Amino acid sequence: MTHPDFLWRNPDPRPAYDVVIVGGGGHGLATAHYLANNHGITNVAVLERGWLAGGNMARNTTIIRSNYLWDESAAIYEHSLKLWEGLSAELDYDLQFSQRGVLNLAHNLGDVREGRRRVNANRLNGVDAEWLGPEEVKKFCPVVNVSGSARYPVMGATLQRRGGIAKHDHVAWALARSADGHGVDLIQGCEVTGFEITSNRVVAVRTSRGRIAAGKVALAAAGHTSVLAAQAGLRLPLQSHPLQALVSELLEPVLDCVVMSNAVHVYVSQAHKGELVMGAGIDAYNSYGQRGGVHVIEAQMAAALELFPIFSRVRVLRTWAGIVDVSPDASPIIGRTPVDGLYVNAGWGTGGFKATPGSGWVYADTIAHDRPHPLAEPFALERFTTGALIDEHGAAAVAH
Ligand SMILES: Cc1cc2nc3c(=O)[nH]c(=O)nc-3n(C[C@H](O)[C@H](O)[C@H](O)COP(=O)(O)OP(=O)(O)OC[C@H]3O[C@@H](n4cnc5c(N)ncnc54)[C@H](O)[C@@H]3O)c2cc1C
Repeated sequence: MTHPDFLWRNPDPRPAYDVVIVGGGGHGLATAHYLANNHGITNVAVLERGWLAGGNMARNTTIIRSNYLWDESAAIYEHSLKLWEGLSAELDYDLQFSQRGVLNLAHNLGDVREGRRRVNANRLNGVDAEWLGPEEVKKFCPVVNVSGSARYPVMGATLQRRGGIAKHDHVAWALARSADGHGVDLIQGCEVTGFEITSNRVVAVRTSRGRIAAGKVALAAAGHTSVLAAQAGLRLPLQSHPLQALVSELLEPVLDCVVMSNAVHVYVSQAHKGELVMGAGIDAYNSYGQRGGVHVIEAQMAAALELFPIFSRVRVLRTWAGIVDVSPDASPIIGRTPVDGLYVNAGWGTGGFKATPGSGWVYADTIAHDRPHPLAEPFALERFTTGALIDEHGAAAVAH
């Protein structure tokens, strides 16, 4: 991702800020944008150890949807989707947000029951959702193989028409430009290496560019959150895994929606430029290396060919991985921590791109008022001791 540097300043860190955000990915930048825009808090630094949005923000496959199962998830992801619907205008930047529809295919009776149940749950929550039979799937997405002789026959699909994709680099640049325009310091090449905590209150961060005092510190470090939290003495229920994706060579327009399949285990869309974009689940082991096993990529391609035999001669252009932070219930962790003034926004795992504006909105509000935003409240760290888990393994499934 090449940076259009003219979109923001490149300041040196100042000795102190009201709020220090750790991590200059989509969530950190969105938090800075909404702290300034919604709460007038601008004495803020975003500290990024690499370059802005060089982590998962640059590596994700950009699927946006809000059709999660549980009320709490539907509320926060739908809030995010509504923000997406006005975000290009709000940021005055073409984010290439394309509501082309997200299909989730059902290949067996279990899938059908789960899909129909999710459609009903979504509708009760005001989230647009439809159930399509195989012929309707074919009509909506002609290149899907719905033939009865397929190894995994398509027995129907859920459809969220308002779901789709956006261009992630544009999203990052637009949020960065907005935050910078409000006076937020975006500081690249600045790694947070520790925290100063006095009487259980965080007072400063130690960084590769010196000590920076902070009234409040907000973690937005995705796959590296548990490492950071450990430096503050906190053990978080997160596991870091590689998540891989791949793109094909450029093709003429052939696929104008997003297709996901949990059973076959792949999802495919076509980027604005023309590449087919594919991914699936995480690599099984814990790792911080931004690469993964070749067999996982092979399985993704095999699964894609089950659904789309017409792609059999398409060549792979490149593959990559990002490190995702997975929580036990496949839901995020947002809110305060046991250390005063230290906040956490993590655990978005394989599906946090879609939440970028919604997460930034509720996190900024939580930080500004030092209490959870109502949409964030169910996602507090305490749920792992109370047992009030929000199990989205089904809706997250093939992820994204
Ligand atoms: C292959 C892949 C496909 C995906 N597909 C989708 C999808 O289709 N839809 C979807 O909704 N989500 C998807 N995701 C998930 C999504 O990308 C993430 O949930 C989301 O990007 C995480 O938030 P972020 O953008 O802030 O993370 P990041 O961009 O990773 O930002 C975190 C930043 O913190 C920085 N950092 C870490 N440690 C420190 C430190 N000590 N000091 C300073 N900075 C630090 C990192 O360098 C990084 O830039 C996908 C992820 C991957 C890897």
